[in-house]
Amino acid sequence: VLTVEGVRKAFGDTVVLDGIDFEVAPGEVVALIGPSGSGKSTLLRCLNLLEQVDDGRVLLAGDDITDPRVDVDAVRARFGVVFQQYNLFPHLSVLDNVTLALRTVHRVSRVEAERRGLELLGRIGLADHARRHPDGLSGGQQQRAAIVRALAIEPQVLLLDEITSALDPELVGEVLDLVRELAHTTTIVMATHELAFARDVATTLLFLDGGVIVERGGPEMLDAPREERTRAFLSRFR
Ligand code: ATP
Ligand code: MG
Repeated sequence: VLTVEGVRKAFGDTVVLDGIDFEVAPGEVVALIGPSGSGKSTLLRCLNLLEQVDDGRVLLAGDDITDPRVDVDAVRARFGVVFQQYNLFPHLSVLDNVTLALRTVHRVSRVEAERRGLELLGRIGLADHARRHPDGLSGGQQQRAAIVRALAIEPQVLLLDEITSALDPELVGEVLDLVRELAHTTTIVMATHELAFARDVATTLLFLDGGVIVERGGPEMLDAPREERTRAFLSRFR
């Protein structure tokens, strides 16, 4: 569904991505791991066109989304995105947050959008909180609402960038549980420092360092890395 070919990205003299190649098949869950500053967020931002690649291309279901002539809004509507924090608009109710893209991008009527929004919020046990503003929810509830908001428009790929790293430790579990559940039915590319979680849900792990994918593999990579750099990185978590 997603093909990344020779992607390069520099900020000034700093080369952050120096030829990134990988493919994500439908239903696959890809975890990007690597040291702070290794370009995980930059790569995710290149995928949904928050950053422009300097070289290479990204194909989504065969469409070159890095073609300069592309309709950026139309491409972004094919991705669901959740960041570390500040995902929900603070001035809108939780339900309005979840239904906003449905109504504005997909032109779904308010009644139908709210029906779908309440169903999604019900699935995560937050239907009763639909009319509240985000600051009336816990951090974990907010992140779960942000995830269902991203799913509301039925994206082809869900991009998750360290979605638990701003949460109090006791709230991490409920968010990871939701991702774990979604992973059965959703194509996901996620950047994460939660290696135990990556081992659990990811079908493929990509270890980024120095602008390249140093090593890739299934979850077993975490137990038996082949590359010295991967080993050094993983040893810091033990
Ligand atoms: P972390 O694990 O801390 O989230 P990361 O792997 O997500 O790190 P990025 O945020 O992608 O890393 O950053 C990669 C490098 O690119 C860093 O050196 C960062 O300072 C630099 N960088 C990112 N965005 C910009 C920008 N808009 N302008 C200049 N430099 C940037
Ligand atoms: Mg990051």
